[in-house]
Amino acid sequence: MVIQTMWKDRLSFSDLEGAVPRIEGLARMGCGLLRFAVPDLDAAEVVGRLAQMVSMPLVADIHFDYKIALRCMDFPIAKIRVNPGNIGGKEKVRAVLDRAAEKNIPIRIGVNAGSLPQDLREEKNLTTEDTEFHGGKFKDRAEALIEAAERELAIFDEYGFTNVVVSMKASSVADTVRANRLLAGRTNVPLHIGVTEAGPLIAGVARSSAALVPLLVEGIGDTLRVSLSDSMENEVIAAREILGAAAEIASLSGQAETAARLRRGGVTVISCPRCGRYGFDTHGFSSRWLPRLYALDKTISVAIMGCEVNGPEEARHADLGITGTGDKVLIFRHGKVIRTISAAEADAAFAEELGM
Ligand code: SF4
Repeated sequence: MVIQTMWKDRLSFSDLEGAVPRIEGLARMGCGLLRFAVPDLDAAEVVGRLAQMVSMPLVADIHFDYKIALRCMDFPIAKIRVNPGNIGGKEKVRAVLDRAAEKNIPIRIGVNAGSLPQDLREEKNLTTEDTEFHGGKFKDRAEALIEAAERELAIFDEYGFTNVVVSMKASSVADTVRANRLLAGRTNVPLHIGVTEAGPLIAGVARSSAALVPLLVEGIGDTLRVSLSDSMENEVIAAREILGAAAEIASLSGQAETAARLRRGGVTVISCPRCGRYGFDTHGFSSRWLPRLYALDKTISVAIMGCEVNGPEEARHADLGITGTGDKVLIFRHGKVIRTISAAEADAAFAEELGM
């Protein structure tokens, strides 16, 4: 199960040197695929150059112009996202598929509820929020999504191109779940799953969890993205947490194979919500430490607790914990305090205990 995120800005050549360490950081956090919008040939040159500088597999996201797709495939791009239905005539489709086949580059078809073909929208009256049957061909938006994906797949079939991944995204949890369930029941084509335009951090994580956990527990999905109006790093952290939750549920319901497929190593962070007893700023410490913790190549649980009264005891299952009392900070392992330090020494001592 591969976690994907998407670069949020337009890149120029002068940005590349700075982009490399950030991409390396994303890889350490568990990101396995990084997508870039490639709106024109200049962008293809920049993303192509970047693909030569990093080991992270890059996905080039292209609309309309088949020449951009062709140029991207001159570089070590791992995947192309393009819909054959929107790049023009047969010769253009043939040129892209021939090059992808020659270079063994998979192509992702991306179907989005917000940009369904006009005839499908009209047939189902999808300009309204109503998803009930209207006497048209489709029972709901999910079926329109599938129909749109199948149209694109039919074009690939016509050319005998099989190295395909499909994504069908909607901003509605129900449409996302239903469309992916239905398509997974009809085909073995690999699926990239996610809720599109899921929202800002809190709403986006809640909606994505509600849609992705049931799909993952059912064994649906090969790559996933949590699309947030927030940072790439938070998208990756959210995806990791969603995979972890889905793995626990799969395991609980006896689906050992699915659980093993979803489970990832790495740090499990426990932190208390904080209350009036607090003697340690859990919120500040968590936000400062999360990216570093999620980048650790260790499978351990870490507790960030607000007070000495409940912290070490409630988090005694944690391999390493931190809390505070008065002007002192306590570091503990499995409930036992191993260090008492000043607040100013906390970060350095914590890093030392983590072996960083
Ligand atoms: Fe409150 Fe302490 Fe519990 Fe945190 S650990 S919620 S500060 S009682």
